[in-house]
Amino acid sequence: MDWGPIRLFLLWIVAALGLAAAQPAWADGSPAGSTCHANGNATETYTAIAQDPARWNCTTAGWSVASARNFVRFDLSESSETPTAFTTRLTRFTTMRLTVIGRDGTTASRQLTEREVTPSTDDWMLSADLPRIAGPIATVVVEIEGARHTGMLSFAKLTGASDGVSLSHELLIAGLCGMLCMPLLFNFAFFRVLRERFLLWHVLATACMLIHTLVTSGLINRFLTLDIVQLSLASAFSVAGGIAAASAFSADLIEPGKLDPIQRRLLRCVGLWMLPVTLVYLFVSGDLRPYVAPFYLASLLPPMGLFVWVMLVAWRRGSRAVYYQAAAWLPVMVTAAVRIGSALGLTDGPIEMLVAQHYALGLEVVITSLGVFDRLLSIRRERDLAVAEIRIIEEQSERDPLTGLLNRRGLETRFETLRAEGYRAMAVIDLDKFKSVNDTYGHVTGDAVLCAAAEALEPDVDTRAIRLGGEEFLLLLRGVDVVNRAERRRQAIATRIAAQIPGLDRMVTASMGLVEMPDDDAMRAEFNVLYGHCDRLLYEAKDAGRNRTMREKMQSFGGLRPRAA
Ligand code: GH3
Ligand code: MG
Ligand code: MG
Repeated sequence: MDWGPIRLFLLWIVAALGLAAAQPAWADGSPAGSTCHANGNATETYTAIAQDPARWNCTTAGWSVASARNFVRFDLSESSETPTAFTTRLTRFTTMRLTVIGRDGTTASRQLTEREVTPSTDDWMLSADLPRIAGPIATVVVEIEGARHTGMLSFAKLTGASDGVSLSHELLIAGLCGMLCMPLLFNFAFFRVLRERFLLWHVLATACMLIHTLVTSGLINRFLTLDIVQLSLASAFSVAGGIAAASAFSADLIEPGKLDPIQRRLLRCVGLWMLPVTLVYLFVSGDLRPYVAPFYLASLLPPMGLFVWVMLVAWRRGSRAVYYQAAAWLPVMVTAAVRIGSALGLTDGPIEMLVAQHYALGLEVVITSLGVFDRLLSIRRERDLAVAEIRIIEEQSERDPLTGLLNRRGLETRFETLRAEGYRAMAVIDLDKFKSVNDTYGHVTGDAVLCAAAEALEPDVDTRAIRLGGEEFLLLLRGVDVVNRAERRRQAIATRIAAQIPGLDRMVTASMGLVEMPDDDAMRAEFNVLYGHCDRLLYEAKDAGRNRTMREKMQSFGGLRPRAA
């Protein structure tokens, strides 16, 4: 039974609980009932429309930044706490005028540009101090030109001295960001071992999500002094980078054969889609300004559609990696779908779900990291199997199939190592008149004779036996008494053959040519040189009547001293 999907499902339940826990924070942001809003053209001032009740909408619906100028009016009751600042969703705008009207009719105003407001440290909000007046405040009017997101109106509220910063929220986000740093570290470590490109994409995607969380949670404002233009750039580009990197990551992560080339290509091109869309969102103004935010959110639909398509295809084809991808992206997709739907007018005002989104991104990174780990394990397993298969094939190609001894190729690849391991004698052994065995008894019996000869050679830790080809064998020996050990084996050939193949009309003997180095001196000559000497000695043994050994002791490199057999 495959526990992977079940584990993911459980993880998902935990995630859903996390999202539910974050719920109260989403609902925040709608102004109180005593708040009214109005739209005006470029020349209309507050005084021009203040007296006309028909111009004011005092519900929590009907928000729009389509007109040149927007007004939000807060009518304070006598018991209200004295507000000190205006706070709303962070977005780019051209100018903002804050007017405070006292109960005695005194007014005070201040005008600000987008670079003069203060970003919050615990949310994607901005605030600006209200101008001070001496007496109690009756009304606060906020006049905004060039707002790029309706949230700037719908999230508008006044805050007082008692509205502090949410430190618990900051701590939570700090913890989440710390968690996002972990995959950055271990992916580099994994990359050093298995050079898989998807690890680098995962690092990039995680870095973007980390930046996005730091920026949109406001936490970054604890460490850096950024104005809202810089914050908007960082937020939008980290979204674009994160989506592009996560798509390229999926293209490389999902197993071969589980996606069509076109799907992988489209995933790799998501960045090309995100870049112009982000530039439009950030910089297009004029008549198109009111539409940039809905356009931007709607433009996330094609990549999301691509993602769903890719996941369905890979799922149907039995991809294992896609389980993790689906589980990782589902919470992000849900929050994105709600935000997009609300931006396109399905709700009274835009829903941000930022806290839910922070959780969803954190969860995405955690589940994706598990997926990366799982994929790395399978890649590792596949590679180990392939290496093992190659070893078996190599091993087979270096063995003689008839006798099981090493063959000449196996010897040549190991010769240097064996030489370094102290082998100091080489003997070439050839069966005498073997052709007649074949001619008389047939090849099957000939083969049996060869096997018996191979067994008589008895390889051990200090004696290597090789079948060079035909009925010719080679011994390498190290340690003491090499000459006698080789000679015993040569003689054992005849007795072993006689014992194992009854009915032969004669003893099948062997001749041997042996070259020995001085004690404690490993073979220093090349294989071909030594083999040449052995072969020459072997044919001297054949010429001398067969069934004997001719040997020489090498005195120094290149010099040979003949010895009697
Ligand atoms: P000499 O004493 O001079 O070495 O004579 P010989 O007959 O042993 O040598 P020769 O080289 O004339 O013949 C070797 C024979 O070995 C010829 C070939 O048919 C046979 N042979 C080579 N490989 C195999 C094998 O794998 N199986 C069998 N059955 N015979 C083989
Ligand atoms: Mg022979
Ligand atoms: Mg031969």
